[in-house]
Amino acid sequence: MTPSRLFERIEAKRDALVATTADLVRFATVNPPGADYEPCARYIGERMAGLGFAVDYIRAKGAPGDGDRHPRINVVARRAGAAPGPTVHINGHIDVVAAGEGWTVPPFAGLVRDGRVWGRGTADMKGGIAAAMIALEALIEVGGPLPGTLELSGTADEESGGFGGVGHLARLGLFDPGRVDHVLIPEPLGVDRVCLGHRGVWWAEVEITGRIGHGSMPFLGVSAIRGMGDFLALLETELLPRLAERTTRMPCVPEGARAATLNLNSLHGGLAETDDAGLPAPLVADRCRLVLDRRWLVEESPDSVRAEVVELLERVKAKRAGLDWRMRDLMSFPPTMTDPEAPVVAALDHWIHRVLGRPSRHVASPGTYDQKHLARFGGALACVAYGPGDLEQAHQPDEHVEIDDLVASAKVLAATVATLIGVDWTADAETREGTS
Ligand SMILES: [Zn+2]
Repeated sequence: MTPSRLFERIEAKRDALVATTADLVRFATVNPPGADYEPCARYIGERMAGLGFAVDYIRAKGAPGDGDRHPRINVVARRAGAAPGPTVHINGHIDVVAAGEGWTVPPFAGLVRDGRVWGRGTADMKGGIAAAMIALEALIEVGGPLPGTLELSGTADEESGGFGGVGHLARLGLFDPGRVDHVLIPEPLGVDRVCLGHRGVWWAEVEITGRIGHGSMPFLGVSAIRGMGDFLALLETELLPRLAERTTRMPCVPEGARAATLNLNSLHGGLAETDDAGLPAPLVADRCRLVLDRRWLVEESPDSVRAEVVELLERVKAKRAGLDWRMRDLMSFPPTMTDPEAPVVAALDHWIHRVLGRPSRHVASPGTYDQKHLARFGGALACVAYGPGDLEQAHQPDEHVEIDDLVASAKVLAATVATLIGVDWTADAETREGTS
């Protein structure tokens, strides 16, 4: 096989790639609640079965949101090659966020216009799944007997944490080292960018507790809201400036994500005004709750991230008698960063340059995606995100993907997979000589 033959085959499948993207968009796999996963998974599975893949449908029973009405169905397709070799797994999430307001095109029609496919999920990330399907199809058609093993999965719930999707498959052992060697996730990072990983995430609920008292005599109670005020002031004057100074070697985009960050997600204090007239219960608030979203860097440790919040809470407690605090972890995933020298990165770099005529750029994501579920395997599993579409399109009205980008990324994916499984490339020039 020559690169040119592979790329010509993909060019010939341009319309099929557009149609596959549009077909996938027409499954309104909106999450929440997690609708239409099964027909979307079956569409992918049937296409892969037609290419000689063994196909499994795996329901994440008991995952958040799973039930008979909205079963968390994942599809995993596997095709063992003619000779032993590495296993390459391409994973895409089949769920999309709700359409929301502000669309000028129908969000689930798969409209094709102006060189683009339009609709919810075209960029994030059904275009990427379609590009991967066409890439594998072309590779199988022109590659002859292939070494190694090809895998493609379409998974649920990435937009809600991935516990019913990649998280579930990882727990079942599908990504265990020795079973899979390289993982590609065609998220919409752009056709010339390789995403090595993402920052860590820690969601926590902090509760300040005080002592209830009559609102007319606040001196008899201990206000949890005032205690929270002290805590917020310490975050503002001490922790946030410190985090802004703490930068990472990870190539995070946008630039602001090169530092550790903290978002104050929500704040609830005192009793709600449930009275019809909106009048308050005249009480000193004995509880105030804050949800934190801390994004941390490979240079930090989960213990230090937690400890610097605890230290501030202890100072708040020491300042006022009767105040206390407690903390509850809501979610935590470490940062992941695949070695920029890993074969999967080198192969992508090579083929991006060849297909697009410009060097690739390495980036890291400010937020987590399904790669986080593979972090448990440490450096044993090389995983990157690479796919068509523009991240800024994700979750926006009038989401779309450029057809040229779909085609380019399918070429890059096909050639990268071929290189990773150990295809013996014949140089284009040699073939021309051989046939003349
Ligand atoms: Zn996505």
